[in-house]
Amino acid sequence: MARECIFCRIAKGEAPAYKVYEDEVSLVFLDIFPVEKGHLLVTSREHYEAVHNAPPRVVAHVFTVAAALAKIYRDILGAPGVNIVTNSGRAAGQEVFHFHVHVIPRWRGGGWRRLVERHVLTEEEAREVLGMLKPHIGIVRKALIDAGLVGGE
Ligand SMILES: [Zn+2]
Repeated sequence: MARECIFCRIAKGEAPAYKVYEDEVSLVFLDIFPVEKGHLLVTSREHYEAVHNAPPRVVAHVFTVAAALAKIYRDILGAPGVNIVTNSGRAAGQEVFHFHVHVIPRWRGGGWRRLVERHVLTEEEAREVLGMLKPHIGIVRKALIDAGLVGGE
């Protein structure tokens, strides 16, 4: 575990974040420099540098959570598109060296070109996104159970 890693500190509750969801393996919170409203980061609770050295069960868990969040955006909240992206290595644009997957709802379109335009998350925007997702977040747990990644209740 990297001592000064910001995502480890968030996972341990030592640094603030707008948390959307968390379980034994993963944690979801808002990106503070979103491409679009609702831009989320799905991280592993344990520290792995990037997708290429995270264990397969952790990769499966994190991507299942990301897919369930994409489902909420597309099927329930009406986003016309969603990007699920992970960057491995500085050459690929990775900035925080703790495995994470971006889930970006695309309300305005623009494909790949607009993925580089980011803004600063405001508290008002964060509250709005948390309010949008909260009623539907049970879908994430259900997807993990359906995938056999966590036990049912
Ligand atoms: Zn870390």
